[in-house]
Amino acid sequence: MHKTHIKTDLPGPKARELLARDALVVSPSYPRDYPFVISHGKGAQAWDVDGNRFLDFAAGIAVCGTGHSHPAVVRAVQDAAERFLHISSDYWHEGQIRLAERMNQLSPIAGPVMSFFAQSGTESVEAALKLARYVTGRGRFLGFIGGFHGRTMGSLAFTSSKYTQQKGFFPTMPGVTHVPYPNNYRPLFAGDDQGQAVLRYIENELFLHSVPAGEVAAILVEPIQGEGGYLVPPDGFLAGLRTLCDRHGILLIFDEVQSGVGRTGKMFAAQHWNVEPDIMTLAKGLGSGLPIGMVVAKRSIMQKWTRGAHGNTFGGNPLCCAAALATLDLVEHQYCANAAKVGEYFIAKLREFAAKYPVVGEVRGKGLMIGMELVTDRGSKTPAKKICDALITRAYHNGLLLLACGQSTVRFMPPLMITESDVDEAVELLHHSLDEVLASERSAASRGVAAG
Ligand code: PLP
Repeated sequence: MHKTHIKTDLPGPKARELLARDALVVSPSYPRDYPFVISHGKGAQAWDVDGNRFLDFAAGIAVCGTGHSHPAVVRAVQDAAERFLHISSDYWHEGQIRLAERMNQLSPIAGPVMSFFAQSGTESVEAALKLARYVTGRGRFLGFIGGFHGRTMGSLAFTSSKYTQQKGFFPTMPGVTHVPYPNNYRPLFAGDDQGQAVLRYIENELFLHSVPAGEVAAILVEPIQGEGGYLVPPDGFLAGLRTLCDRHGILLIFDEVQSGVGRTGKMFAAQHWNVEPDIMTLAKGLGSGLPIGMVVAKRSIMQKWTRGAHGNTFGGNPLCCAAALATLDLVEHQYCANAAKVGEYFIAKLREFAAKYPVVGEVRGKGLMIGMELVTDRGSKTPAKKICDALITRAYHNGLLLLACGQSTVRFMPPLMITESDVDEAVELLHHSLDEVLASERSAASRGVAAG
């Protein structure tokens, strides 16, 4: 048992002191689940300020794809920093041009693409929405229930994975209509293929009764839904969306902020189904931790933007571009394939794990974007939220950093460079943590406290 890596009570004394200082001066809005205070990281390991070592299977919310402080990324950032830290988007520099050229080679769009540079996922989504409105002259959009696209007023209008993200902020950007994301584990519609059912709902109900297709600028969709529960859509769904968009002159925007840059074992998740978007948003793993986002669009679309239509100060920051170029090299040549291989191994291990615990309803995912949904029982499929939250906390106490998504799904989004032995360690810690949670549930039940 790897519990030996935890040497103090958690949080330890140094962490406790920092947490007390933080509570006085840092916004309480951050949704932090457990008190991990990092000192430093290396690869898939992270140490807290008290010297406890953790296996990091959260990777800064799917950001540190190349692992913590990969030497090639650090060197690229240091080299860039020696030359200049900033120049602004009013000028040109080679790193930004090279990154846009690289995206032109790598993107899932067959023809030429152009890129706009941002600092985050939400800013990339805002830019994509503005581009779609600008070039179509249409005002409406479709998004998906359970989607997460960010927290600024445009992206927030689409975000619908938890009501706390919306509560207190109405009105957000008008014109967004949500439709269900296809979920074969929890079907909303009749029939076996929830993807086709959602497509029929859009075409035959929504477009017919309340949202004129000719007023819709774009459909914004995550090729694999992230925060909403790590849902992999049924085959044919994204292709069906493509056809529907083409039929009505609607642009298709793939939000690959979480699923992109090797996370799913392909450079972009949409490549699992060979479907091309018109516009794609990126951030998170693109810079290995440096804040960079990109909007990648067909050249025929982005070149319609006129001078001054959209811009920013920090877009294309030289350190971020250098980090992204180094990241893309590592992912393209090593880590994408590693994510596919180790991801398959991990899913097989989790399915063995699931066979031992009826509380696991479903294991799903692609590459190293894997979700394990917990339910009170497999018949009713009632989300076991309390057990999920307790498992995440116990895993932290045992030295494994995890996060949840959806209502009761444990999500695994480790660095893309992990080995099978990292997976073995994580699964062992998971066993131990879930045994502890279930034992405490049993003892609570025997005292008459409700589980779930
Ligand atoms: N889009 C997706 C799919 C995301 O998962 C996220 C963040 O989790 C965002 C957009 C927003 O990114 P950011 O937090 O960098 O604004």
